[in-house]
Amino acid sequence: MAKRIRGNAVMKKKEYRIPEGKITYSDLSIPGKTLFSKRYRIAGKPDYIVEKNDKYIPVEVKSGSHQQPQGNHVLQLATYCQLLEENYGGFVPYGILVYKNSDFKIPFDPTLRFELGSVISKMRSSLKDGKVVLNHNEPGKCKYCSMRMYCENKLV
Ligand code: SF4
Repeated sequence: MAKRIRGNAVMKKKEYRIPEGKITYSDLSIPGKTLFSKRYRIAGKPDYIVEKNDKYIPVEVKSGSHQQPQGNHVLQLATYCQLLEENYGGFVPYGILVYKNSDFKIPFDPTLRFELGSVISKMRSSLKDGKVVLNHNEPGKCKYCSMRMYCENKLV
């Protein structure tokens, strides 16, 4: 049984191009536990968490191809870095974005930490005012968005 699980983990590592390290959490094959941030009052589940050199690294696997990391994916990954620091303890130095055609190591540096805090605070004040402004013109995003059934701004 343990051999089969290890074999499955190796296959998944290849399939999703997971970096070297021990997989300590996965939300891809079976749903993983939701992680909460007390500091920001947010929750989320990364696709994978890899333990490497005593650090926990979140990995987010996307189905599309991109030449550059996409801003919304970077913020999503930053959220997971924050969640890992609060739930697993210790410093999370970076996260990894895996696209179909490329992988990116995204440092969870002071600039990204500041941006995360600032975006969350803007989101909170928009929710308070009830004023939410559409910030893109990409029907494809709305088509597959998990919030589309609640969203009044959706494009398709
Ligand atoms: S459905 Fe709404 S929340 Fe989802 S991407 Fe479109 S505008 Fe954004």
